Amino acid sequence: MRPEILNPLFAEVEALKGVGPNIAKALSRLRISRAIDLAYHLPTGTIDRVRAPAASAALIGQIVILDLTPFEARAGAGRAPLRIFASDGDGNTITLTFFNNPGWAKKQLPLGEKRVVVGKLDAWGDEWQIVHPEVFEPAAASDLALREPVYGLTEGVANKRMRELALAGFERAPELAEWIEPSLLAREQWPAWRAALAQVHSEPAATRARKRLAYDEIFANQLALLLLREVARRKRGVPLQGDGRLTSRLRLPYQLTDAQTRVIGEVRGDMAQDRPMLRLLQGDVGSGKTLVALLAMLEAVEAGAQAAMLAPTEILARQHLATLQRQCEALEVRVAILTGREKGRAREAVLMGLADGSIDILVGTHAIFQQPVLYHRLGLIVIDEQHRFGVSQRLLLSEKAERPPHLLAMTATPIPRTLTLTHYGEMDVSKIDQMPPGRTPIETLVISDNKLGDVIDGLGRHLAAGGQAYWVCPLVEESETIDAAAAEDRAATLRQRFGSEKVGLVHGRLKGADKDAVMASFASGDLGVLVATTVIEVGVDVPNATLIVVEGAERFGLAQLHQLRGRVGRGTQASRCILLRGQALTESGRARLALMRETNDGFRIAEEDLRLRGPGEILGLRQSGEQCFRIASPEDVAELAPLAQADARLLIDRDGGLASERGQAARMCLYLFERDAAVGLLRSG
Ligand code: ADP
Ligand code: MG
Repeated sequence: MRPEILNPLFAEVEALKGVGPNIAKALSRLRISRAIDLAYHLPTGTIDRVRAPAASAALIGQIVILDLTPFEARAGAGRAPLRIFASDGDGNTITLTFFNNPGWAKKQLPLGEKRVVVGKLDAWGDEWQIVHPEVFEPAAASDLALREPVYGLTEGVANKRMRELALAGFERAPELAEWIEPSLLAREQWPAWRAALAQVHSEPAATRARKRLAYDEIFANQLALLLLREVARRKRGVPLQGDGRLTSRLRLPYQLTDAQTRVIGEVRGDMAQDRPMLRLLQGDVGSGKTLVALLAMLEAVEAGAQAAMLAPTEILARQHLATLQRQCEALEVRVAILTGREKGRAREAVLMGLADGSIDILVGTHAIFQQPVLYHRLGLIVIDEQHRFGVSQRLLLSEKAERPPHLLAMTATPIPRTLTLTHYGEMDVSKIDQMPPGRTPIETLVISDNKLGDVIDGLGRHLAAGGQAYWVCPLVEESETIDAAAAEDRAATLRQRFGSEKVGLVHGRLKGADKDAVMASFASGDLGVLVATTVIEVGVDVPNATLIVVEGAERFGLAQLHQLRGRVGRGTQASRCILLRGQALTESGRARLALMRETNDGFRIAEEDLRLRGPGEILGLRQSGEQCFRIASPEDVAELAPLAQADARLLIDRDGGLASERGQAARMCLYLFERDAAVGLLRSG
């Protein structure tokens, strides 16, 4: 349980003076719901105001504080704004313009009475004007700050109010004992935690204070991961060593690449230990991770255990099932599937088979870890597409089992080194850094979407030559309905042109069975074009599909584009990726597309993606609901994560139970960043 000293900070915002449901609701849009969220709602910069005796041309464009006397109000006709003319006592007239709330404005600015007006001075032809100024009575304006921190705002909470709220949140912060290694603190000249918060709220540019706050967050994360690792390592697993009776009979149409051979060696080495394996396997799309998974699973089966493979989507689970069944056909290995769609008797049969050990390998979605699923002897878990499987879920897995199974997590999202450290710090990493031989590099073109007609003509020629193609529709919003509508429109256009029997459509709102049916007829070659939203991001293999068109490509993140592109180029045929870009291309959109054209190197793309968009997006943390860093910027992470990891490791080496004075302080830091589960591990482990 969270220490009491932190309770005031973790109180709901409504507990603060003057915060009712309306403000609470407005704040929730900024993901602020508790006092601590306000305390950590750090200012993004400052505004400077100029107090001037009178308006002058030199002040145009600046935020000014002026003493003005209104002398005429002119209500606008229809939707025209209210304009109040005011004099600065030096012969200049300033127009104060209000687009809404004219009644309020007139009351604030009675004619003939002096008021202090604050706002940005604009020139509008010969006129000087201030739009929507703040207005004060002279007595109330005496302590107007010339410099004010500015905060991220939302409708219904203006800057002044937000600052008050942030400070009110901060007021609830207690003094806490220091958790940072003293020598590091001294070297970096970082202030104490509470002092650092205070400093940033009063001087947003306070670099050292900001760094310290970022460090805290990264440190808490490192510490949590290391604790996770420690606990997982302390538990005894089941050593699994195969005798080769299955793998030796596997008939593969190709040879393992050197990278695959190396990686499977690392995996086998881990599985033979009685410490459970915790390994992350990174390998670009198409690098052949599934085969590594198969070999590892067969190893487990040879050793008398069961293996389970978790896929992120239903479609992918079914494809894995098909692949595994094909590969295991000649072997006496029983493979089954369990997803939300297996119901009734089929489901019962699978559950029975798992419990009595007659099923060797289970493939499925999250259903395979749900309550009624009991395994006879689960020895290995393979997680495909790790980035959708967050730290919290990993925690759950390791907490549950008495003798935890070995864990192999696979990801096709090449993860930059610093992110591997901060998000998978507890895992060992293997990389497949080599593609199977004979692949032709994918040609990537960026084409303006006013050439849509030409692209569709090109698609026609591709289909006529017997090719198949993916057509990916843009992510308009974070709304599946709207995305689905865009995809439906495009499918309709293409059906008109190529015939409705040639064009299939899948999107997120389609039911599992329907989706599978469409995918199946695309895979069998009945369909020529598959129109899709990003549901094909991790999808089934269709060797003949050698063209992919991505509409609205600038709206996709780099990692996502790279994944999409990985749908083609999986065989030896030449293939092509066309990125259709919209007219309103932003600078970063342009940079992403240029990079896509330039390189096929997933790791390079990942590093750039981190730079351009930040870590949360890349790891898909938003989808998984996992918290990403809120204080630390990607630059902070790159700079501070290695330090924080070393610091955390040192602490755990000296004081694994976090019992010392500094250990206790570090626990506080874990609570502050809501790594409560990690503290829980300390007690149970
Ligand atoms: P991913 O890493 O994206 O999961 P897959 O495991 O699906 O990649 O492999 C992509 C394709 O490459 C599959 O069709 C697979 O059969 C093929 N493949 C895998 N390993 C090799 C290899 N060593 N040589 C040739 N082809 C291979
Ligand atoms: Mg795969």
